[in-house]
Amino acid sequence: MVQIQLLTMKNFIPISKPSITDKEIKYINDAAKSGWVSSLGKYIDDFENQFSEFIGVNFGLATSNGTAALHLALETLGIGEGDEVIIPDLTFIATANAVKYAGAKVVTVDIEADTLCIDPDSIRKNITSNTKAIIPVHLYGHPANMPEINKLAKEHEIFVIEDAAEAHGAEINGQKVGSFGDCSIFSFYGNKVMTSGEGGMVVTDNESLFRRAKHLRDHAMSDKKRYWHTDIGYNYRMTNLQAALGLAQAERIEELIAKKLEIFDWYKKGLKDINGVKLNYQADWAKNVYWMICLEYEFWGEKERNQFQSTLRDKNIDSRPYFYPISDMPMYKESDTFIVHDVYKKGLNLPTYFDLSLTEVNYICETVKAELDS
Ligand SMILES: *Cc1c(COP(=O)(O)O)cnc(C)c1O
Repeated sequence: MVQIQLLTMKNFIPISKPSITDKEIKYINDAAKSGWVSSLGKYIDDFENQFSEFIGVNFGLATSNGTAALHLALETLGIGEGDEVIIPDLTFIATANAVKYAGAKVVTVDIEADTLCIDPDSIRKNITSNTKAIIPVHLYGHPANMPEINKLAKEHEIFVIEDAAEAHGAEINGQKVGSFGDCSIFSFYGNKVMTSGEGGMVVTDNESLFRRAKHLRDHAMSDKKRYWHTDIGYNYRMTNLQAALGLAQAERIEELIAKKLEIFDWYKKGLKDINGVKLNYQADWAKNVYWMICLEYEFWGEKERNQFQSTLRDKNIDSRPYFYPISDMPMYKESDTFIVHDVYKKGLNLPTYFDLSLTEVNYICETVKAELDS
């Protein structure tokens, strides 16, 4: 209730909002009028081609959402019972849940304090003879250290699935994330760098992986014999309506990313020289796309951070806490992830969306400053 009231208040600044222009509306209208409203239609092919070309990989397979893309990637690689999959302990729950859906064991490991991404040293310490895959997550728009992770994976003959749900267009030494793993996934949920409403994509350079994923996406139906199924597959397809929105956004991706970078610059200027405050990091080998502004305040515990969020809400500013450690949740096992447990309670995401104005960011910065600088 409270949430709905706030969202309809005129001057309330939400955490996120999609950018919908005439282009998006035109494509959605066109898809609707064509009658191809389910998972056949030209927008699906066009979206898959446009987006995979942007990432710099050969194949893209659109899915109903990013979680489905993760599960599909794991199933495609044959990961299941008895296998262990290493993931960072700080991520959205979907990364862990998809591993469970596949029937494998989730192994959560620590992150780097600066990039907030999975720590290669912590991966190394947790590799066992049962480890079958690593899922690095490019958290909040910053790339994980893929060269190091791929080296480890090669040494131990382990698959790598990049979870790039939050990092469309992020780069490592000029190469886009999503092109480093055996396969990678993206999400196009409404608050992501670009959206298709709900939606996701598996991308890969490996043609046989792509074919296998495509087969499983559509109930594993035989090419030669309709309604004959070779495996237990899924309905993880994207609709043509979603793809129409996705294509319009993919065609605007450079513009969408450029705005994220500009917003980060505004916050950086507005929040400089506050004792104990840290904003998003960018390693010298990385291009961060700043999916969400990350503010960390050295002196916060979970309680103070939550208190600060209600102060912001009183001033019409929405915010989000960092994700909680996966290993703290009842479905998952404890782990000794010191950095994750130190960092999560100090972190807050601030409004970061295309239509946000400099005036609004300055208002947010002044409000934050008045609270923390006193
Ligand atoms: C959003 C997200 C997902 C899941 O994507 P959905 O499209 O919401 O299913 C997976 N991993 C991470 C890190 C995410 O942020």
